[in-house]
Amino acid sequence: MGMNIVLMGLPGAGKGTLAEKIVEKYGIPHISTGDMFRAAMKEETPLGLEAKSYIDKGELVPDEVTIGIVRERLSKSDCERGFLLDGFPRTVAQAEALEEILEEMGRPIDYVINIQVRKEELMERLTGRRICSVCGTTYHLVFNPPKTPGICDKDGGELYQRADDNEETVTKRLEVNMKQMAPLLAFYDSKEVLVNVNGERDIEDVFADVDVILLEHHHHHH
Ligand code: ADP
Ligand code: ADP
Repeated sequence: MGMNIVLMGLPGAGKGTLAEKIVEKYGIPHISTGDMFRAAMKEETPLGLEAKSYIDKGELVPDEVTIGIVRERLSKSDCERGFLLDGFPRTVAQAEALEEILEEMGRPIDYVINIQVRKEELMERLTGRRICSVCGTTYHLVFNPPKTPGICDKDGGELYQRADDNEETVTKRLEVNMKQMAPLLAFYDSKEVLVNVNGERDIEDVFADVDVILLEHHHHHH
C-alpha cells in the first residue's frame, strides 16, 4: 500500500520546498512536471524544445504532452510504493487523465494537499527564488537564504535564477494558473481527497501540518 499524494498550489506556494522534505522523510519519488520539462530543455530533446516555447511565455505546456510524460513516469517501478506529484495536474483534463491512469494501476490518490498563499506574497517568493545548479535545492534571497550568498549549503553548488522567474512571466503564470485552479479544487473536493493547508507561515510550520496528514495515513496502512 503506497502513499499516493498530489501537491497543489499556485506557482511559488512552496510545493518544491515541501516536496524536498517529504521525499527526505518518506522516500517516495518526487514527480515534478516542471523539473522534467527543465531537464528536457537542458538536454535540448524534442520534448524540451517544444516545452520551452510555452514555458518562456508563462503558458501551460499542452495537455497531451504533459499527460504523456506523467503516464510514462508513473509506470516506473519506483512508483510502486507511492509517489508525490508536484505541479500536475493543473487542468481538469489532466486530472481526468490522471484518474484513468491510476485506475488502470489500481492505485487511487490518497490526498490532494493544497497549499494556499495569497498572490501578493507569491510574486515576492518567485522573484527571490534561487536554485542550486548541482542538486536543485530551493532557496530564497530573504525568506530562506543560503549561509553564503549564491552558494548551496549542501554541496557548494552555484545558485541560479530560473529564466521564467522574472516579473513579467510570473504575472502571466499566476494569471494562467489561477484560472485553471478553481475547477480543479472543486473536482478533488467532490472526490473528498482535498486538504487545504495555510502556506503563509514558516516553512517548518507548513511542513509540520502536511506531515500530520501523511503520518496519519502512514500509520493507517502499516
Ligand atoms: P513552488 O514549487 O510551489 O513554485 P517553491 O517551493 O519553489 O514553490 O517556493 C517558492 C519560493 O518561496 C522559494 O524561493 C522558496 O524558498 C520560498 N518559500 C517556500 N516556502 C516558503 C514559506 N513557507 N515562506 C516563505 N518562503 C517560502
Ligand atoms: P511553478 O509551479 O513555479 O509554475 P513549475 O516548475 O511547476 O513552476 O512549472 C514551470 C512551467 O512548466 C510552467 O509555467 C508550465 O509552462 C510548465 N508546466 C509544469 N507543469 C505543467 C502542467 N502540469 N501542465 C502544463 N504545463 C506545465
